[in-house]
Amino acid sequence: MTRTKAAVLEAPGAPFTTAEVELGEPGAGEVLVRIVATGLCHTDLGVQAGGIPLPLPGVAGHEGAGVVERTGPGVTSVAPGDKVILSFTSCGECPSCLAGHPAYCATWLPRNLVGALRADDSATTTRDGEPIGGHFFGQSSFAQHAIVDERSLVVVAPDADLTVLAPLGCGVLTGFGSMWNVLQPEPGQSVAVYGTGAVGLSGLIAAALRSPAQLIAVDIVPERLELARSLGATHVVDASTEDVAARLSEITGGAGVNLSFDTTGNPQVAKGALASAGVGGTVLVCGAPPPGTEIGVDIQGILPGKVLRGVTMGDAVPQDLIPQLIELHASGKLPLERLQKRYSIDEVQQAAQDMAHGVTVKPVIVM
Ligand SMILES: [Zn+2]
Ligand SMILES: [Zn+2]
Repeated sequence: MTRTKAAVLEAPGAPFTTAEVELGEPGAGEVLVRIVATGLCHTDLGVQAGGIPLPLPGVAGHEGAGVVERTGPGVTSVAPGDKVILSFTSCGECPSCLAGHPAYCATWLPRNLVGALRADDSATTTRDGEPIGGHFFGQSSFAQHAIVDERSLVVVAPDADLTVLAPLGCGVLTGFGSMWNVLQPEPGQSVAVYGTGAVGLSGLIAAALRSPAQLIAVDIVPERLELARSLGATHVVDASTEDVAARLSEITGGAGVNLSFDTTGNPQVAKGALASAGVGGTVLVCGAPPPGTEIGVDIQGILPGKVLRGVTMGDAVPQDLIPQLIELHASGKLPLERLQKRYSIDEVQQAAQDMAHGVTVKPVIVM
């Protein structure tokens, strides 16, 4: 058993507070990781708000990075001492996993978001001997140690800076993967990114590397729009002061947007993006509003070949895409440091508030 310090959510709406928890031994296909740093993602805020029903009290966190301390039975891809980035988990056996789409794993929801337990229904995490919610994305990384599924792990170089690279596991993977794996912009196309948080900006950076004709960032925070411009946006639209539909029409010469990436989870934004899409345009949504959230679609409006599509984790295979992202970072094309601000494990609640208020794009909790 490992005793470790964690940021715990006691109930929906409660703040993150630190407490000592216990982790069991790593089971088959699991690894005990000493967490060095972890990003804070909007999905963690969704758990805190109660929109994502992870059983509470529980430990969230799903952008961990750390060092392998012990391996469970059958683990072959990592060894103690390896530096690793933690991403999402999957079963490895269902048709989606076998087809190379682990983000669409048949067990996605219980294993990553809402189960809080291993596949055999045992708990990874206890407090004073009582099971609490854990196994979030197969990791629950808001803690100084985590029991992690081997399938979530990506081994990185011994000299890798884990504090800088931690957010690659969810937010950056989602943004890049959505742009490169799904939307695949081509030169000459127009691309709009709605929401310039870490996912949106990562998608924007990914799109900029493909040289679209117009790369448009839409948000309501002027500082973030300026950041988007400095990261490659050719146009920015402030939805708090401008008529977004009119501006997008003007920027695209009346043709409408070819490729739209909505990271906001706001149904009105997705609806607007669909209306502003051009002939044959695709609107890709990755945000996760509470279950049951719907948008009305004007069927005649989408008849000119428009597509509304969803995506999870950028439809990425972490072990394929994360090494590419590390190379892009090393070559200066993915300036992760410009999105980040660091906090201690005792400051997770402050980090959550700063992200919710748009003050910090990507908080990184340093353990
Ligand atoms: Zn996330
Ligand atoms: Zn699967």
